[in-house]
Amino acid sequence: MTHAANREKIGIIGDGQLALMLAESLIRMGNTFLCLGTAQQSPVRTFFPESVTTDQERFRNECNVFTLENEFHTTLQLNNLLGEKAPRLFPEIKSYSHFADKISQRTLYQALGIAGPRWIAVKNVQDLLELKSWAYPYVIKASQGGYDGKGVRVVRNEAELEQVLNDFRFFQGAHLLAEEKVEIVREVAQGFLRGATGQMTLLPLVETVQESGVCNLVHYPPNVDESILGKIENDLKLLAQSGLVGIFNFEFFVTADQRVLINEGAPRTHNSQHLTIDASDYSQFDLLALYLTDPARAPARVSALPAVMVNILGQHSGPCHELKLPSLPLKTYPKLYGKETCSPGRKMGHVTVIDANGSTDLIAVGKKILKEYQL
Ligand code: ADP
Repeated sequence: MTHAANREKIGIIGDGQLALMLAESLIRMGNTFLCLGTAQQSPVRTFFPESVTTDQERFRNECNVFTLENEFHTTLQLNNLLGEKAPRLFPEIKSYSHFADKISQRTLYQALGIAGPRWIAVKNVQDLLELKSWAYPYVIKASQGGYDGKGVRVVRNEAELEQVLNDFRFFQGAHLLAEEKVEIVREVAQGFLRGATGQMTLLPLVETVQESGVCNLVHYPPNVDESILGKIENDLKLLAQSGLVGIFNFEFFVTADQRVLINEGAPRTHNSQHLTIDASDYSQFDLLALYLTDPARAPARVSALPAVMVNILGQHSGPCHELKLPSLPLKTYPKLYGKETCSPGRKMGHVTVIDANGSTDLIAVGKKILKEYQL
């Protein structure tokens, strides 16, 4: 897609891979942008070094519309950073505020009547006593700052509970979220963009496959029946009707008895939607670029060709080597994020494989890539 240049300069808070892929969409559409980053090497610095600043004042003054790539900022920090331009942040700060903390997310879902695992907030000794009446196993999550499963632990006995309380700094005042351990048969994710006028774009429902709490493979279409699709669309409708403005992605658990339980949401573009870059008419980044500049051009719903996306995680510590993939008789789209240093488990890139006529076992293809790629 190419569009006439828009006069708005987009300010992206962050300079990681999500910022990079948004920047690529913005450039293709003729828009300009500036990232607020740190002095360190980063995906955006690798490809567009002139478009990253560490100067908050320059960032605020030069840009007219803003977005972000993670939920690690408090609303106070965002308000301080953007000053009188804070209302020009997409997602709206009020919408964002639900997602910066796993406990406030659960509170929102519960208030909207969206089904989720049984949960309690563990903020003080009283809450801890209540948790101690729960049967093992259960799941404990750091309320803030976790990602890629790093703040998530299954607790099977008292010793593990003590360990998690220490590791997650409960006794130093950190808040925890305890959840029932769900017997998950599938994990799926779907998101939407919603503007201040109520205009919406629905992203495709994808299935995600995790290993050790980290998503390593995503495929479309998901292996779920119509009733699951309907339940999730209904949950998304409730979320949209609550007035959320921004781009959001939600993860759900599907259980053996076909229940749908919401896991978590993110107020930003998301790894599970990367296959839209190559398999859809509009990627999640194109859509965010449109909502930031010219929302009238955005479609109401985006679908995808049958596709699998595999996350390319670092396998060693040190400089990255060239990506080697098994040869495949299908359209294959590798994307590296320009990170100079590898470390085990670090997200270095992704590969999407498309099978337009849907006759290939794409999950098997994804697993083959996971097993054989070298970086
Ligand atoms: P993160 O924010 O780090 O991605 P999540 O809350 O999404 O963490 O959890 C990571 C993974 O851990 C999930 O994708 C799921 O596989 C597993 N998990 C999380 N919560 C539960 C739960 N309540 N019951 C069972 N498994 C869970």
